[in-house]
Amino acid sequence: MTSKPRKPSILIVEDEAAIRTGLIDVLIYHGFEVEAAADGNTGLDKALTGRHDLILLDVMLPGINGFDICNRIREVDREQPIIMLTAKTSDEDIIQGLKLGADDYVAKPFSVAQLVLRIQAVLRRARVGIEAETLLHLGDELAIDTRNLAAQRGDETISFTRREMDILHYLHSNAARPVPREELLTKLWGYARDLDLETRTVDIHIAKLRRKIEPDPANPRYLVTVRGAGYRLMV
Ligand code: CA
Repeated sequence: MTSKPRKPSILIVEDEAAIRTGLIDVLIYHGFEVEAAADGNTGLDKALTGRHDLILLDVMLPGINGFDICNRIREVDREQPIIMLTAKTSDEDIIQGLKLGADDYVAKPFSVAQLVLRIQAVLRRARVGIEAETLLHLGDELAIDTRNLAAQRGDETISFTRREMDILHYLHSNAARPVPREELLTKLWGYARDLDLETRTVDIHIAKLRRKIEPDPANPRYLVTVRGAGYRLMV
């Protein structure tokens, strides 16, 4: 028995009718299932009650604004993929949007081709995230359960903080390369400014993680330092 692959569904929350209808047409053309809302309250309602693979969220909206909607969604769903759409382009807004947990940020006016690529990239990351979510394996000896923030090594149970797990998860998703400290700060802490002082925060977390996952933390086998490049998880 074969079943047709389900179309990814997108919720558009955008008050400008021309942009909204344009997006609906383009996304349907690209094979998405599309739902739309023209104001903040309707958008929030649809976001919280529906199942959407991704939400395109305008910032300036009648009713509840996009940042607040993003915040409300994150209170109940950390994983919901969200791309903010906005005419505001100052750095401060971008930082605020990313701190509230948007996956990406597209400034108006945007090119439709660009937007579709960004949507596909966010969906791909989300899918990888879901697949990788339950169990990460390090070597033969360690099975890390990312949902329960715990790992099993033989009979020993190791527990992690949410931040530690986010770091492991991110390094695991990017295991093909070393990840710079700055990237971890930007992606996981939401920082987007001068990072000189903050990179030590990353090092402290890495040291804690090594004490938990490495058989010999002084000579890491899994969570290695790549000189001048960052940290890499050997999987
Ligand atoms: Ca608007």
